[in-house]
Amino acid sequence: MFKQVKKRLTFLYTISLLCLLFLFIGILYFLISHEINQKQVDEVNGYFSKEKMDFIEDLYEKKHRGVEYDPNRTIFYYVYNQEGNLRYGKEVFQNLVGQIKKTEGNSSIKRMEWGKKHLLLVKKTLVINGVMHGFVVLGMDITGEEHVIQNITWTLVGMTLFFSLLFAFLGYFFAGQAMIPIKRAFLKQEKFVSDASHELRTPLSIFYGSLDFLQREEKLSAYGLEVLADARVEAELMNKLINNLLFLARSDKKELPLRLENVNLSELLENTCKRFSRRKAESIALITNIQKGIYLRCDELKIQQLISILLDNAFRYTIEGKIIVSLDTRIERLIITIEDTGYGISSTDLPHIFDRFYRADLSREKGGTGLGLSIAKSIVDAHGGKISASSIEGEGSKFIVFFSREK
Ligand code: ADP
Repeated sequence: MFKQVKKRLTFLYTISLLCLLFLFIGILYFLISHEINQKQVDEVNGYFSKEKMDFIEDLYEKKHRGVEYDPNRTIFYYVYNQEGNLRYGKEVFQNLVGQIKKTEGNSSIKRMEWGKKHLLLVKKTLVINGVMHGFVVLGMDITGEEHVIQNITWTLVGMTLFFSLLFAFLGYFFAGQAMIPIKRAFLKQEKFVSDASHELRTPLSIFYGSLDFLQREEKLSAYGLEVLADARVEAELMNKLINNLLFLARSDKKELPLRLENVNLSELLENTCKRFSRRKAESIALITNIQKGIYLRCDELKIQQLISILLDNAFRYTIEGKIIVSLDTRIERLIITIEDTGYGISSTDLPHIFDRFYRADLSREKGGTGLGLSIAKSIVDAHGGKISASSIEGEGSKFIVFFSREK
């Protein structure tokens, strides 16, 4: 149980820390790359504002000057007239002009790869006093900045991996720390239950002895005998409760002794069903569907106790209808099913019925203690099996127990 809680806590801590990490790294990446990109765009825009008038003048020069090659420039540009014909330009990379697809819209920003180079292209319209003269495509080499962004990305990925591992370790450590007081409180409570049940046994057996003694007294009135019978019923209930608590306390401490032997499970089920059918109400049909000759290596008494708990519940929570008990084998598994057409269990109660002292629908008082199914589960767990319940309220319930055959 502690292992599972610790696992869950580790998972929760790690996921919370990782979410914070991803958020932080995402924001950091966005801010850095946005800042670098914006700087490049601002530089091109600044150049355009400075040179805008010159671009328009270039546009109307009679002489077609073509494109000048100047590898030492930072910003290159190509000026087009309204018809989209190239009039003039200054380029840093030869033959690039043919690759530049005239970007759509009046003003757009584009990033492209050209060979090993990364380029930023910004298209600007040349408009003065509302009159459109043409447009210019400006660009700059941003390979250096792209490499910086790539390096930052890889560094952040590396950091994410490193911190994920660190956070998983921290999550595990914090979960361990959080478990210490929980474990201490649980062990204390476990010890209390175990000690209290032990201490209560002696006064209870004295109480029993006194009841026996009183019953042998001849002078008791009819009313006195009635009171005595009531006291015996209550004492038996208390005895059952104490034994159940002791059983669970031992199971928690992993001190549940198992006397494993090869048991004919088919016979065990048949006999237990027979015992129950003798005292069942007429309105209930007990149907058995038990495969013969099935053996299980188990503690016979405990498995009998498990079947009795499930059958006892089925009979207690069914007024009329049928109870079907079956035993089946499927590949490596052995399956016991106990199904009834009784009250059923609501979907809000169903997830809790294996909890200690949990009793669904208290208005339907049936004299239970709420420990039966927790004991059933601990018996199944001790044998390495699994137990599950399904139910539809008002229609009935089905309990399935699985055992692996090797066990
Ligand atoms: P109890 O002693 O109250 O029967 P259990 O641990 O055996 O305690 O069962 C827990 C609760 O689950 C019961 O109070 C009952 O409401 C519900 N329950 C168990 N088995 C059945 C069943 N076959 N049909 C309907 N309800 C059931």
